[in-house]
Amino acid sequence: MSADAAVFMDLHSHWLINGHYLRHPLSALRPDRLPFGPFGNRIDIEDAARAGVRCVTFTAYAPVSPLFWVPRSEATLAQIRTFYRVARESGGRLRPARTGVEARAAAADGAVAGVLAVEGGHSLDGNPAMLDAFAELGVRFLTLVHFKANELGDAGESSRKPWGGLSPLGREVVSRMRALRIVPDVAHLSDDGVHQVLDLTDGPVVSTHTGMRALVDRPRNLPDGQARGIARSGGVVGIILFPPYLDGRHPMGQSVDRFLDHVCHAAWVMGPRHVAVGSDMDGFTWTPRGLRGYADWPILSEGLARRGFSPPEIQGILGGNALRVLDA
Ligand SMILES: [Zn+2]
Repeated sequence: MSADAAVFMDLHSHWLINGHYLRHPLSALRPDRLPFGPFGNRIDIEDAARAGVRCVTFTAYAPVSPLFWVPRSEATLAQIRTFYRVARESGGRLRPARTGVEARAAAADGAVAGVLAVEGGHSLDGNPAMLDAFAELGVRFLTLVHFKANELGDAGESSRKPWGGLSPLGREVVSRMRALRIVPDVAHLSDDGVHQVLDLTDGPVVSTHTGMRALVDRPRNLPDGQARGIARSGGVVGIILFPPYLDGRHPMGQSVDRFLDHVCHAAWVMGPRHVAVGSDMDGFTWTPRGLRGYADWPILSEGLARRGFSPPEIQGILGGNALRVLDA
């Protein structure tokens, strides 16, 4: 593979949940018996490499359930250690990368680049110094909130919004992120919070895994105005593959067409250079019909070609645009 060949990138995925807690190997495509079962294992590094998905974001996620309570920063650090151990033991198949240059170099050598992310500012345990630790360990994206309000801000999907957007700590954290080269991810954040992040930082902002609200009206999806703000920041919007955010009527298993609808809408709103893919695979999610995992990603490029995107636009949407954010 030459250095300038297309590198597809998944901006958000959760192999670390299965790899860390269930000890699944990196090559373990394990489809669920149910087509919409959330406990399958859809991420397989060999499939990713074969399908050209040469850059995968490994998102560390600390459980918030009181049943599994450990300090969240500790759980996050443990998953980051698992990421580096698995990369070491992968025989060169998975290579940690912090920049677009490193990711493309790994891809050119036939490896899959792994980029670290953390989902949920609860992983800081309220301590902004944890952000420096994450940066030193190579974390490049921080999703500020998850399903519920946390120390950093309010969640779009929860009716409890104590901060009116970002908390004072959330503002401090977002302001520090630029210097630490951690990109703020506003997926899950409330509408007020997204506007505040866009006002606070002059660097790229991303929403790593979302649908478009104009097509499916739920608070978890991104309104057009916020998408334009993200594009103006130099960031990208990763369209999710999880059916419930893409199709209100067929949440259990719509076709890839609904995903393509959201990509087309996002490209219409922002221009194709600001659209990416954040699968959310293995995060207790399932995938559209006919898309078992990375092996089937060529279906996405074929679908985008049918919708009229040019080859350079398709390469951008499936990877180049997200890599550009890592370069910035
Ligand atoms: Zn998420």
